[in-house]
Amino acid sequence: MADAEQRWMVDQLEELVRHESPSGAVERLDALRDVLVARMAEAGVELTARPGPAGDHLVASLGGREDGGGHVLVLGHYDTVWPVGRLVDSPFTVRVGVATGPGVFDMKAGLAMLLWVLHHLDETPHRPVRIVLTADEEIGSPSGADVVRAECAGAAAVLALEPPLAAGRLKVGRRGVSRVELLVTGREAHAGLDPEAGVSAIDELVDQLVILRERLPERPTRSVNVGRFRGGSGANVVAGQAGAELGLRFTTDADERELRAVLDDLTPVRAGAHVAVRTLTRRPAWEPTSSRALAEHVVATAGALGERVDVAVSGGAGDANLPGSLGLPTVDGLGPRGGGAHAPDERVELATLLPRARLLRELLTKPLRTS
Ligand SMILES: [Zn+2]
Repeated sequence: MADAEQRWMVDQLEELVRHESPSGAVERLDALRDVLVARMAEAGVELTARPGPAGDHLVASLGGREDGGGHVLVLGHYDTVWPVGRLVDSPFTVRVGVATGPGVFDMKAGLAMLLWVLHHLDETPHRPVRIVLTADEEIGSPSGADVVRAECAGAAAVLALEPPLAAGRLKVGRRGVSRVELLVTGREAHAGLDPEAGVSAIDELVDQLVILRERLPERPTRSVNVGRFRGGSGANVVAGQAGAELGLRFTTDADERELRAVLDDLTPVRAGAHVAVRTLTRRPAWEPTSSRALAEHVVATAGALGERVDVAVSGGAGDANLPGSLGLPTVDGLGPRGGGAHAPDERVELATLLPRARLLRELLTKPLRTS
């Protein structure tokens, strides 16, 4: 029986993985959207599309036995970090209880699990349930965040189906992450004939990055990664333009404020240069305090089902950061066990699909403790 249930979820997973869905590839996302809409409809759930510039975000609503206490928001995403064509080198495979393929762990296995749960809601959910699946999570949810925020209004709790941490640990807090662009404008000139007429944007950018490093020494609670660097047009031209993309990570709001203050304070060190800072995406820090009671409830519920789970704070950010930062009781990482998110060895342990799906069903159909 359990074998058949697992096989059913693996079949769903295979179909989802075979529809490659990199963030931003709207036609591919649309094709997977249609699959999700059809599969959800088979489970009696109507998914509606909330259009965004990089694909549709998908929303559904289920009634509950007990109304008035706020809904439970179930969060997921259907984009992946893998480009179209990845399937050729890294096809969907199942071997000795492990599935591999692009996006299998992050987070198509969570979606397969959700489909199973919706098919097996033998009793009505205890509270009303809303589901949000974003299409741009892997690039920081530039438009999906608004859909998540809207569905957070009035929510009692948030359950997110992202992959768990190692050994299946659930996420009860996540660091905040912002992507910021540092843009420098200088003045182009011939590097040999007329160098003093120029202002090097690249030299200025290097100086600014050194200043940033001096003012923001590494700390366990915050970090700055210069993830991308560009500028100039050739060796014989003083560079007129340069830019860097920075990844900021922070454990608390205070850490984020400190990072921002240093960035906002940057001023050019050479005459004629211009320095600007632009925020591309922002996920606030989710500090675990308000999620503790819900986390204990989830751990106890798993225990009653015979599953031992632990909880931890995650270094990465996701859509759950938003409700978590708003103080809504939130638990993430409810997807099945595996590893290698965003890495070539991405994989899912198939024996954990059914236990995790049963846990989610239990959480949706029994009273939730959030405080
Ligand atoms: Zn993810």
